[in-house]
Amino acid sequence: MEKILLLAHTETDGTLAKAALEALAAALALEGELTIGLVGAAVEPAAAQIAGAGASRILAVCGDAFAVPRYATDAAAAEALARASGASLVLAPSTSRWARAIPGAAFRLNGRVDTHATGLALRNDVPAVNRWFYRQRMEAVLTRAQRPWFVLLDSGCCPPWSGAPGAAAFETVPLEVPATRTTVTGVQSPKAGEQTIRPDAKLLFVAGAGWTKKQSDGAVHGAEAESLILGFLRASQASLGSSKSLVDMSGEGEAVLQFMSHLNQIGQTGATPRHAKGLSTCCHGEEPHVVGWRFITQRRAINLDANCGWARGKADVLYVADAFAVMREVNRLMA
Ligand SMILES: Cc1cc2nc3c(=O)[nH]c(=O)nc-3n(C[C@H](O)[C@H](O)[C@H](O)COP(=O)(O)OP(=O)(O)OC[C@H]3O[C@@H](n4cnc5c(N)ncnc54)[C@H](O)[C@@H]3O)c2cc1C
Repeated sequence: MEKILLLAHTETDGTLAKAALEALAAALALEGELTIGLVGAAVEPAAAQIAGAGASRILAVCGDAFAVPRYATDAAAAEALARASGASLVLAPSTSRWARAIPGAAFRLNGRVDTHATGLALRNDVPAVNRWFYRQRMEAVLTRAQRPWFVLLDSGCCPPWSGAPGAAAFETVPLEVPATRTTVTGVQSPKAGEQTIRPDAKLLFVAGAGWTKKQSDGAVHGAEAESLILGFLRASQASLGSSKSLVDMSGEGEAVLQFMSHLNQIGQTGATPRHAKGLSTCCHGEEPHVVGWRFITQRRAINLDANCGWARGKADVLYVADAFAVMREVNRLMA
């Protein structure tokens, strides 16, 4: 039986985010001896939150130095918790914070790490991870003999653990704050004025370069495109994705949608989000873009061109229509 450590860092309010609870559910499904390792300024709210999970131990590295994401402190905390737990399998959610620090911690313990795991389960009585390769074109199932084995689990791959909060005792693992060269001075958001990326949304709404192209009247309708897209996003709470062409235009000084940044890009050189449904508008549906739709369950597209890429087996439904007219009507119906 594996000795399992689940690593979780707290959010600014001291609690654990959904991704950590998903990793906790995956750890519990392995049926090993589970220790939970918490990292943060103060971990009491997080310990109370997962009190009912049935972990045999809760360990913690806490203090102001561990409140903020920083490689030196996060890697030291992960290393200390892994050593104190004696775990053979260390599981952590693939947050930007852990994705940066965990490979270093694995190296210090002469372990191995697998990143971007999309599943973790017992197969033939040994833990095995699912992982996609070549930009989500091929899926592999891997096991490893080397221990400790660190696994970073992508979010959205399993339902989060839920349980009533309670009183939980935790043991503090003493750790001298390592020398740091990085001081966290604040958080800078991308220039996009409005939060448009919503990983938990049911719907992904993709805007392509067509929104900024000349339309049938020979004119560009950038302002209307902005208001139609933002109106739909506000009413539906969908997450906004983009094609590469559209986000690249801002760098080239063309009239673009102000709220788009490269963070919205979906595809081979962009993101591969997980949503139940996707609606693509004014986007051609070329392979380097559609490869980012791997985990979108139901795909629909609106394009004027009946021969666009979506028509070639990439969408479940293609509406051959003017996206301006369709979204105008959809927004009217949702108002
Ligand atoms: C190595 C490499 C990596 C790449 N990585 C990515 C990536 O990660 N993500 C990505 O997106 N692309 C990527 N690309 C680029 C990709 O190949 C395409 O060039 C890009 O996706 C095209 O963007 P688009 O469909 O928005 O624009 P366009 O190809 O310009 O298509 C615009 C579409 O809008 C339609 N349209 C116009 N007006 C309307 C209207 N009123 N109503 C309905 N439809 C309308 C047009 O019919 C057209 O099909 C990559 C390319 C390479 C070579």
